[in-house]
Amino acid sequence: HLDGKVALVTGSTSGIGLAIAHGLAKRGASIILTGFGDEELISKLKEDFTSKYKCRVDYIDADLSKVADINELFTSVIKLYPEGVDVLINNAGYNHVCLVEEYPEEKWDDMVAVMLSAPFHLCKRFIPLMKRKGWGRILITSSVHGMISTAGKAVYSAVKHGVVGLAKGIALEVVDYGITCNTLCPGFVDTPVTQKQIKQFVQDEGISLEQAKVDLVSKRQPTKTFIEPEHIAEYVAFICSPYAAQITGSAMPIEGGWLSK
Ligand code: NAD
Repeated sequence: HLDGKVALVTGSTSGIGLAIAHGLAKRGASIILTGFGDEELISKLKEDFTSKYKCRVDYIDADLSKVADINELFTSVIKLYPEGVDVLINNAGYNHVCLVEEYPEEKWDDMVAVMLSAPFHLCKRFIPLMKRKGWGRILITSSVHGMISTAGKAVYSAVKHGVVGLAKGIALEVVDYGITCNTLCPGFVDTPVTQKQIKQFVQDEGISLEQAKVDLVSKRQPTKTFIEPEHIAEYVAFICSPYAAQITGSAMPIEGGWLSK
C-alpha cells in the first residue's frame, strides 16, 4: 500500500529503525536511511534492501545532535525528492542510565538534541511539504518511559515524555491535511541499546548473560520476553495504511503488559 511513497527513517542503520524501514520497503515505499554506520555496513544494508524489494534506497549521513547536519539532511532529501517525504519516522536515539545527581550535563544536552530537538527540527521542515501533498504519516519513537519512569532513566523519560507532547500538538496542527502524527512506546526490545543495559545488569548482579536477559525483562514485562523490532515495524506499517487515518496524537504502548501492572 505504499507504492510511490517516500519514507525517511532516522536511526535506520540498526534495531527498531532498520526493522521499520524494511516493513515500509516491503510495502513498496522508497526508503531514505540515516544513522551512524561505516561504509561497509551502509553498502551491506543498501544491498539487502535492493535485493529483497524493488524499492529505491538511499543513505544520507547525519549526526542529529547537530542542527547543521539536520539542515544538510533536509537539503539532501529535497535534492532526491523535491516534493519531500510522505512518511517521516523520527526514531534515532540511545539511552544513558545514570542518576540525575551524577548525570553528565553534556549528556543531557545530547539526549535532548538527538531525541527531542531533532524530531522538532525535522517535523518543522517536512510538515509544510506534507501539507502540500495532502497526505502524510509522522511517527516518533518514544518509549514506555514516555509514560512512566525508572530510577536512572529520569533524563531519558524527560525526552521521551517530551515527544509524546510534541506529537499530540502536531497531530492537532495537521489534522486537516490528511496527515497523522503518533508516538510508539515500546518496552524492552532486543537491540544494541538494550544489550548495553543487559551487560551492566550482568556486572551489577554477577549473573550470566542469559539469566540477566530473563531477569531484566521479566521484572518489567509480564510477557517475560523481548519485543521483536518487527513487532513494532508491522504496527508502523499499519499506521501508514489508509485504515489508520483516524489514529492520530496517540502514544501506542508495545510493551508486553508493562504498563498494566
Ligand atoms: P539502536 O542502537 O539499534 O539504533 C539506534 C539508531 O539511532 C542507530 O541507527 C544509530 O546510529 C542512531 N543514532 C543514535 N544517535 C544518533 C545521532 N546522534 N545522530 C543520528 N543517528 C543516531 O537502538 P534501538 O533500540 O533501535 O533504538 C531506536 C529508538 O527506540 C530510540 O529512540 C530508543 O530510545 C527507542 N526505544 C528503544 C527501546 C529498546 O528496548 N531497544 C525501547 C523503547 C524505545
